[in-house]
Amino acid sequence: MRPSPTGAGTVWPLSQTSPPTLRIPLVDLQPELDALGDELVTVVSAVLRSGRYILGPNVQAFEEEAAAYIGCAHAVGVNSGTDALAIALRALGLGSGDEVITTPFSFVATAEAIVMAGARPIFADIDAVTLNIDPASVEARLSPRTRAIIPVHLFGTPAPVEELMALAQPRGIAVIEDAAQAFGAEVGGRKVGGFGQAGAFSFFPSKPLGGCGDGGMVTTNDADVAAAVRRLRAHGAARKHHSEVVGCNSRLDELQAAVLRLKLHHVDESARRRRALAARYNGRLEGTPGIVVPRPAPGAVFHLYTVRVLNGRRDGVAAALQAGGIASAVHYPVPIHRLGPYGDRGATLPEAERASTEVLSLPLWAAMPPQVVDEVASVVLKALGRSAGLPGGRR
Ligand SMILES: *Cc1c(COP(=O)(O)O)cnc(C)c1O
Repeated sequence: MRPSPTGAGTVWPLSQTSPPTLRIPLVDLQPELDALGDELVTVVSAVLRSGRYILGPNVQAFEEEAAAYIGCAHAVGVNSGTDALAIALRALGLGSGDEVITTPFSFVATAEAIVMAGARPIFADIDAVTLNIDPASVEARLSPRTRAIIPVHLFGTPAPVEELMALAQPRGIAVIEDAAQAFGAEVGGRKVGGFGQAGAFSFFPSKPLGGCGDGGMVTTNDADVAAAVRRLRAHGAARKHHSEVVGCNSRLDELQAAVLRLKLHHVDESARRRRALAARYNGRLEGTPGIVVPRPAPGAVFHLYTVRVLNGRRDGVAAALQAGGIASAVHYPVPIHRLGPYGDRGATLPEAERASTEVLSLPLWAAMPPQVVDEVASVVLKALGRSAGLPGGRR
């Protein structure tokens, strides 16, 4: 199978094709790991020597440290972000016959987790500016079967959680934040993942807080929900061999927890760097006709830097980048309601559909040299027929 030009450098777990080697990748995680130096080796070898590999002292300490960082009462480590969502839904009592309203403009795992929990995803449209779920569209899709809303803090930009809570709470509907791309992102000084009845995080390596393998976490302020998540992640048993419900095996392991504890100390600095690089990209690209840059949001952590390229020129820009040895990727080329297993083909979600034809993620990682921004931006401007030196007109 040939990698698609715009899929180059993609870091999603399902990518089975090795991307072509490009001079500038979409993400480079190596420098951050290198910066941890001996500390990383020390904590990893301590775990290896301890003989405790699953749900041990590092997981417990990480759960406490992560809850304190997010500012919520409980954090429970699980196997992945996908499991965090599915287990949170089940812990809140959702299942067969229940409808969960979510965004079609996300990684497929958001909808997949809803189906894994036995519920049915209902897709609302997105806001044209933020690309996050649009509360007005959510409201239009409420039904007597709506039991939960899952907003995604897409690309690390907070979704309108407060508006969604105001919509959901009086109706007894739960809000579960898909914060897989947004560890550390804030709304009004409060971290995402602490607003809804539950939050779900992914520690997939390229996420804002990434491990050296798979991992995830559920956050909540409700002790009963936390206890239910702990039970579900360990075969439905609060006490080993005494299963009360059918659960699953979804535990965070000690090696990941040890790495995550270490990286938690650097997560703010890494977000600060990505924000600064995103601001530099905006400075280079903003105001150029045919391109829309992300609106600066003070609480965003820029998991990805994603622009919109208008007038059908997205794939041309991606090809020009690839010709220059620069990776780019499309997040996401098919909105979830257009994917076979989640098909809601009757639904018209014009903003999500339009976004999927225009979005392009450009290289961004915390340790990326600022000159890379300038180089990438100049290739983009050239592909759009603008010389890099000319300032673009503002709209
Ligand atoms: C990565 C991701 C997930 C799934 O997380 P995994 O750890 O890969 O299972 C869910 N939702 C969103 C928005 C994601 O980006």
